[in-house]
Amino acid sequence: MITAAQLQFDRRHIWHPYTSMHNPLPVYPVVSARGVRLQLADGRELIDGMSSWWTAIHGYNHPRLNAAIEEQLARMAHVMFGGLTHEPAIALAQKLIELSPQAIQKVFFCDSGSVSVEVAIKMAIQYWYARKRPRKCKLLTVRSGYHGDTFQAMSVCDPETGMHHIFRGVLPVHFFADQPRVRFGAPWQQEDMASFEQLMHAQHEELAAVILEPIVQGAGGMWFYHAEYLRQVQQLCRQYDVLLILDEIATGFGRTGRLFACEWAGVTPDIMCLGKALTGGYMSFAATLTTDHVASTISAGEANGGVFMHGPTFMGNPLACAVACASLELLLQSPWQARIARIEAQLKAQLAVCRQSARVADVRVLGAIGVVEMKEAVDMARMQQQFVEKGVWVRPFGRLVYVMPPYIISEEELAQLCQAMVEVTGSRFD
Ligand code: PMP
Repeated sequence: MITAAQLQFDRRHIWHPYTSMHNPLPVYPVVSARGVRLQLADGRELIDGMSSWWTAIHGYNHPRLNAAIEEQLARMAHVMFGGLTHEPAIALAQKLIELSPQAIQKVFFCDSGSVSVEVAIKMAIQYWYARKRPRKCKLLTVRSGYHGDTFQAMSVCDPETGMHHIFRGVLPVHFFADQPRVRFGAPWQQEDMASFEQLMHAQHEELAAVILEPIVQGAGGMWFYHAEYLRQVQQLCRQYDVLLILDEIATGFGRTGRLFACEWAGVTPDIMCLGKALTGGYMSFAATLTTDHVASTISAGEANGGVFMHGPTFMGNPLACAVACASLELLLQSPWQARIARIEAQLKAQLAVCRQSARVADVRVLGAIGVVEMKEAVDMARMQQQFVEKGVWVRPFGRLVYVMPPYIISEEELAQLCQAMVEVTGSRFD
């Protein structure tokens, strides 16, 4: 059990995500989790609406995922990947190649989503270096994106929410088109491409790659944009000879209703980042995938004898590969499309009433993602407490109150989650 002294220690000495050490927001101690429920130290049980930041798609403490880790643990927890290989890594790479768009044939394993974005950017730059066009080393992206917290990843996050001003002088400077404004599923309007097209036209000789979150902009604004935007981005990339990196870290593995969100637009990227739900929420792990063409261009390059310059210590960690294999099997053997469709329909039906609140600016749902956008920034600590009092776990940020529950959530549990969203976003709390 967690004592008051331990909580005090936590408050004084441990940095939590995106918090100040001065008067940090309260944290809730969790002692265990099972299915879609988190058990707090004081005995309360919360229905989880967050899937631990898009990861725990099968829920917590899943017997098959536990068994996969335990079986692998009995063989070896880890061995270096330099000069060695193992069955879990091979099996996982086979599965990822099979599931991803056809042209994707090569896999680079790494530690986290941010690192997989670093690796993707490095690949794109090394590709143009190998093609003897080293001027092509910049990136083009759109506003309101999020790609991680490391430096290159941060440099393609939204300049305001990514706080570029603090790191000015250290962050690489890239190009930002306007945020795509036409909604997913709305009638297409060609003007939406104007800013992106203009930048592509003007800057392509310096551009190594375009990097985008396909369809869903996650931590940068929880926004769902039109599939036509992505299709035209791919066409422009081809026309101007620029690589396309798709960051499927948040969207991959079914969350939007397709296995990968790029499938909504029928687009195949040159480089693809996967993470988050890859291990079913068990551990930090990611992969950067690419085509034969990109890989063989880098490998034929003169720089460093064609080697790709990356190799983290825990690359291809066997425990992570084993649990990722089990998670993928579990997903593919489950009726995941039907589950996501059911969650989507229920979120649409039960969150619609939030539109009636004068405090709500917008309600949007795609797949197993439900978003209530408020007109004003929310008081996160207060709102979180209200959610906990209602027996659910939802962590809002900025003006956004959103849920992305584990796919196994029942109709009753999701109803309780939606009801809490309706009550909390409709009530006064400022
Ligand atoms: N890209 C996207 C689209 C993300 O949502 C995130 C994490 N929220 C990342 C990259 C970074 O992943 P990680 O936190 O595992 O480094």
